[in-house]
Amino acid sequence: MTDQTPHANRVWTVLKFGGTSVAKPENWAVIAKLAKARLKQDKPGGKVLIVHSALSGVSNRLEALPDLALKGDVSPEIAAIKAVHLDFAESALLDGATLLAEPFEILDRLAAGIALVREASPRVRAELLALGEQMASRLGMERLRQEGLSPVFLDARDALKAASDSADPSGYLSNSVIDGADPELQAQLGHAELVLTQGFIARNSRDETVLLGRGGSDTSAAYFANKLEAKKLEIWTDVPGLFSADPRLTEGARLLQALSYDEAQEIATMGGKVLHPRCIGPARRANVPVEVRSTLRPDLAGTLITAKPGDDAPQLKAVSVKSGVRIVAMEGAGMWRQAGFLADVFACFKECGVSVDLVSTSETNVTVSLDPDPSLDQARLDALRARLERFCRVKIMDDGAAVSLVGYGVRRILHKLAPALEMFQDKPIRLVSQAANDLNFTVVVDASEGRALAARLHEELIAPAPAGPVFGPSWAELNETASSTPARPDPWWVTKREQLIEIAPQTGGRYVYDRDTIKARAAAVANIKSVNRAFYAMKANPHPEVLKTIFEAGLGFECVSPGELMRLKDTFPDLDPKKVLFTPNFAARHEYAAAIQLGTNLTIDGLHPLVEWPELFKGAEVILRINPDRPRGHHQHVQTAGPKAKFGIPLDQLDAAREAADKAGATVIGLHAHAGSGVVEAGHWREIGAILARAAEDFSDIRILNVGGGLGVPESAEAPALDLALVDAELAKLKQALPDYEIWMEPGRYPVAESGVLLSAVTQVKHAFGTRFIGLGTGMNSLIRPALYGARHEIVNLSRYDADGTGMASIVGPICESADLLGADRLMPDTTEGDVIAIAEAGAYGAVMSSRYNLREPADEVVI
Ligand code: ADP
Ligand code: ASP
Ligand code: MG
Repeated sequence: MTDQTPHANRVWTVLKFGGTSVAKPENWAVIAKLAKARLKQDKPGGKVLIVHSALSGVSNRLEALPDLALKGDVSPEIAAIKAVHLDFAESALLDGATLLAEPFEILDRLAAGIALVREASPRVRAELLALGEQMASRLGMERLRQEGLSPVFLDARDALKAASDSADPSGYLSNSVIDGADPELQAQLGHAELVLTQGFIARNSRDETVLLGRGGSDTSAAYFANKLEAKKLEIWTDVPGLFSADPRLTEGARLLQALSYDEAQEIATMGGKVLHPRCIGPARRANVPVEVRSTLRPDLAGTLITAKPGDDAPQLKAVSVKSGVRIVAMEGAGMWRQAGFLADVFACFKECGVSVDLVSTSETNVTVSLDPDPSLDQARLDALRARLERFCRVKIMDDGAAVSLVGYGVRRILHKLAPALEMFQDKPIRLVSQAANDLNFTVVVDASEGRALAARLHEELIAPAPAGPVFGPSWAELNETASSTPARPDPWWVTKREQLIEIAPQTGGRYVYDRDTIKARAAAVANIKSVNRAFYAMKANPHPEVLKTIFEAGLGFECVSPGELMRLKDTFPDLDPKKVLFTPNFAARHEYAAAIQLGTNLTIDGLHPLVEWPELFKGAEVILRINPDRPRGHHQHVQTAGPKAKFGIPLDQLDAAREAADKAGATVIGLHAHAGSGVVEAGHWREIGAILARAAEDFSDIRILNVGGGLGVPESAEAPALDLALVDAELAKLKQALPDYEIWMEPGRYPVAESGVLLSAVTQVKHAFGTRFIGLGTGMNSLIRPALYGARHEIVNLSRYDADGTGMASIVGPICESADLLGADRLMPDTTEGDVIAIAEAGAYGAVMSSRYNLREPADEVVI
């Protein structure tokens, strides 16, 4: 291509962010930072286009929705999909319900349509799946604005025209785009510095939405890079580059620092899901270098993919596994030598629209593997079989796994494979194929053997490669360096580990809480000078000793139920009721009556109590909990529509609440909001306070602004930690502007999470399909957070704390549920039965949420 814009004159950088990168509001701070850095570095004239995916997990849920809708009521599933986005919005202080009203409406309409006609056409499926990216865009645009950027929005469908108008499933679900430099698009975006657009979606000439295939956002980004003749395409994902094997399955997978387009293409085609198989082509055609990097570790350089290989000596560079591979074996019995036999059989594949991947032939047999294709149903397979049987005997085998060795000159190193293939003495290899481009050698085996074979081949042939221009550190080494850069001093459970090992239970589990840590964290909260009063949200951990320690540090208590009030009464018989804040949600009438009787502070979070039971509140002082459904920086506090959340009074009902309180003879003395948890941005509480203060302007007796809790606790040593001094400094600004208000706060997790560990001894270790499972004496019956919220807890082998990690492991409990997974893909040392494992940051929402599921007693509790 000689008429390409030379690199020196290229202005665009395309940044693609996948599902995990965009799923959390805080990750958008990284996205914004990266965009700003590119713009600054390319000044003047540099431009950035951001291509993003749906929030992680959303596309899978949307894909499954039609089949669920055909079976029954999908309203809970739809609510859950919406909740993923509303939660994002809420923790970013965005008005999710308004922002997402339009895609939510389309979602409802499509689902209702499917239920009504009892059918989901590929066109409807495409429209449905495309909503994932559309919902994410709206959130992304707002997050970039909050980060001080002014992005221009581009609907990807306006720029990417589908190459095919086919009405087949593939036309809607896995289309392509005709690329080539696009002066029109370049001119259209000429005025913009920063553009945000979606991956995955395009439009056909009937103006219908089509998709580029699952995982296709990479390919969208490559099309944009091609059309804009970008100087670089950066694919930001959850691993720091292309590895020699899927790093999540193979502990020794090596970072591939430099690859050619050919090699990267081969890794992507042969199952390395990190890149969509069609994304290399457009980049290569426009000569755009591709970088693969991690949003979680932006400091690492990742993989650079260009026309030149990092090293062109014959060398295996990766092992890929592709599952769901179907094999069609055709026994020709004599027909093989007849001219035209192959043409006849391949014509059958063409007629049935079945795409062939690998081919191998022998004297009497032709065996092919089929590209995994979710739309290939039994009817089409039967039709294929019937046609083929006119020429030969046919055997179709499902559920194969294709294991591929990728690298230049693979033929020249085949002899080295022999030892690794020995394990297949007793196990059938269904197909062997060696690619004509000499870039891959593939065997298809039983699905159940695929991972083990890949792991073995990787271990023998690739893992030992010396470091050089291509092979970088292993995944395990990268994780080790991450966790060995201490961002904080040793946690208490390291210094007290001898004691912990001593008191660890031989069976079941035991929560151990460290009083010193509780004291220190509670004192840190009590020391936030701008906060007049802090109430510990005791639902996080109501253990009496914990409550006593927190009380001694000077905190009050926030309760949500009569049970919690009772616990306080038992623990502190003489407790001043004004040290208690009662904030129930959807509680019955008598609970409010009891709290008023006791004389606690009282928060009301809906209109119903005030309107329906006014007599209860006569003469009472109340705090109203509102739902902070406004984006930051807005000045009006009254809204016409608020999110239909379970908690809080929507801002548009606040006038009614005020009137109802007046009518009941109650005085509203405070406003409260709690906008999310795990917040690490220090300015968050100041912003909540500002929203409350604006809302307070319409009330005459307000003196308290309760800015809620949600103070973030780092999930690991590298995770960002909240700086309470900064929180204080931010809140001080609020106090300075509004000196007449008292500021209240109600942290739950913060004072206790780090103080607790869950201890349990290893019961069994199992190796299966390349994964090491470490079994513990307790699981989700004691700690349900990983299963319930996908929470990440640090997990360590206390008995071998000083031993090096030797490989990844999944840590599981004894409960008969596949969700009984306490942590996946953790670097662990060699671990044996009886070792004591500690699960950290388990002091909050641990024991209190435990159950007797499977009739296994949950962990007991000890304070040291
Ligand atoms: P995104 O949502 O960012 O597009 P994907 O989940 O599609 O991310 O791709 C990233 C995942 O690809 C990684 O988490 C990893 O498990 C998987 N993967 C598979 N093979 C490889 C490989 N060879 N190198 C790196 N990652 C791989
Ligand atoms: N969201 C789409 C999917 O999950 C596209 C992508 O993430 O690349 O398939
Ligand atoms: Mg992907």
